[in-house]
Amino acid sequence: MSSAARKRVTAAGRPSGVPPYEPVVGAKQSILVVEDESSIASFVGMYLKRAGFAVRVADTGNDAIEKASADPPSLIILDLMLPDLDGIDVCRRIRQRSDVPILMLSARDEDIDKIIGLEVGADDYLTKPFNPGELVARVKSILRRSGPERREFVSSVHEHGSLRVDAGRREVTVVGEEVQLAPKEFDLLWDLLDHRGLVLTRDQLLERVWGYTFAGDTRTVDVHVRQLRRKLGDACPIVTVWGVGYKVSPEPKAARAS
Ligand code: CA
Repeated sequence: MSSAARKRVTAAGRPSGVPPYEPVVGAKQSILVVEDESSIASFVGMYLKRAGFAVRVADTGNDAIEKASADPPSLIILDLMLPDLDGIDVCRRIRQRSDVPILMLSARDEDIDKIIGLEVGADDYLTKPFNPGELVARVKSILRRSGPERREFVSSVHEHGSLRVDAGRREVTVVGEEVQLAPKEFDLLWDLLDHRGLVLTRDQLLERVWGYTFAGDTRTVDVHVRQLRRKLGDACPIVTVWGVGYKVSPEPKAARAS
């Protein structure tokens, strides 16, 4: 666990009577924009500054790693295509030391699948060209969720057939074997298990798991469900309700011969 993650756990587990963490009033949250195309970097920077953020720009992967470590930002916007390292490597390297929220940008939908498939630990993804208003909304939503309470789940466990999901440890096992999930995959699985028997629409899931308060790109939900099915195989409890959304059945399917 990174030291930042440990700090969050400590903050979440604070003794009663200790006031919750609150950001310093007036302190600007800082965003590190990692993008070599200066026109995009300045365009994104302009919108973020207008929304009240302090903005720094890194134009190479190495520059990003250095800046993220020298003066940790509140959030990183990371383009996939960079002149030296690619964004996936940069994300992995930053993740070794920090759990700073990362929003990845890519030019194509297939790259988003790749980012999710590689489990590099990004918090969200956006495909170019994007609406700058949506970018700012997503940044705000990630930051809202990345406060000290981000990983504060009441310690509890959901079991469904051979699947066991421990919210306190953020651990998923199938027949006792641990399965690595990306953060949003975990949150999505947990939310559906937590509403066992109820159908949640894609928009509801986007709002609950990603924090979007407007109708966003519901394809994100489908991509994450696909990843969960791939990783969990037959143990994946998520059922598609055609034309509506997804649900987890109240009871697991009858045990299959294994
Ligand atoms: Ca680029």
